[in-house]
Amino acid sequence: MRIFQSLATVALSICLLATTQAVSAAGEDHPIRVDIQPEPVQAALEDQEPGEVLSPEDTLREVAPGVYVTYGVIGTIDEFNRGFNGNAGFVVTDEGVVVIDALGSPRLGKAWLETIRSVTDKPIEYLVLTHNHPDHSYGAVAFREETDATVIAHPATEDYLRSNQFADSVAYREDLLEEDFEGFEAVHPDETVEPAFGEPLELEVGGEAFHVYNVGGHHSFGDLLIHMPDRQITWGSDLYFQNRTTYMLDGNLEDYFKADELAKGLETELMIPGHGVAQEGPPFPMREKTVSYVTRLRDMMKDAVENMVPLSEAVNQAEESFPEWEDTALFEENHRKNANFIYTQMEQKLLFGEE
Ligand SMILES: [Zn+2]
Repeated sequence: MRIFQSLATVALSICLLATTQAVSAAGEDHPIRVDIQPEPVQAALEDQEPGEVLSPEDTLREVAPGVYVTYGVIGTIDEFNRGFNGNAGFVVTDEGVVVIDALGSPRLGKAWLETIRSVTDKPIEYLVLTHNHPDHSYGAVAFREETDATVIAHPATEDYLRSNQFADSVAYREDLLEEDFEGFEAVHPDETVEPAFGEPLELEVGGEAFHVYNVGGHHSFGDLLIHMPDRQITWGSDLYFQNRTTYMLDGNLEDYFKADELAKGLETELMIPGHGVAQEGPPFPMREKTVSYVTRLRDMMKDAVENMVPLSEAVNQAEESFPEWEDTALFEENHRKNANFIYTQMEQKLLFGEE
């Protein structure tokens, strides 16, 4: 498969990023940590005028013919990235467009739709929401209002939309990013992908095949993965992370390993993640790194539970045992929580025979 040159440039730039100072082109302190960003984000930040915010168009790349990705900032939501802290993509076929994820606010959803419209005016046939986390799905309202796209999501979406977690996350964002959240509404899926590991929902648009897999709840209430078998492209969403520590508290450990097994069985030459740049492979360094993190943390917490090591001590041990992750984004925010969560899952499994 022919990959556009931008990918090679991206890979090269990643190596150079380590030496970059966290300052903007203007030389002022930049509120976004620049040294860990994917090259498209880095480049866009350097072009930014003071006070400007990144738009999906600024970081859009064609990663394979007709396959586009907009790269979000690596970091948690704040008033500088304004919820543009995850990736989204789209595929232009002869007859229409398939969009994967909607970005993190109504404002971003609108800007994302305009970005797509700057590339093609073909109808948007489907919007596939890989999972419910805000950075991937809260822009969906723009597609609901302005297109006839069929919205496809995980069946657990409805549970999420009824949860306190949903209500709290919307309230938090409406407070933090008031104008960006004007007109926010929950988007209920038109079609859901029923749970059956290994059996995808098969979509076809303009001769392009999209296999949408329900991969359980490995990272959220419910997660999807999209494979394009003729192109050997996998949209992995938040199964594998780069330069960013995963967040496991909404997920399930058994589903994680099952999802990874499923992904490994899909022929893939280009892996497009929910955060960080697309990688050519196999092997995929983001996969190796994330799976080894989850596996090590699981083994460590399992050991701790078996040996009656108290929770707080086990979490402290985990904190000191991942020095190679300390420099990645969200390590401080997520790592101890992940350890705590896995310990609890292991405890339930080992002591009570359940998860
Ligand atoms: Zn995400």
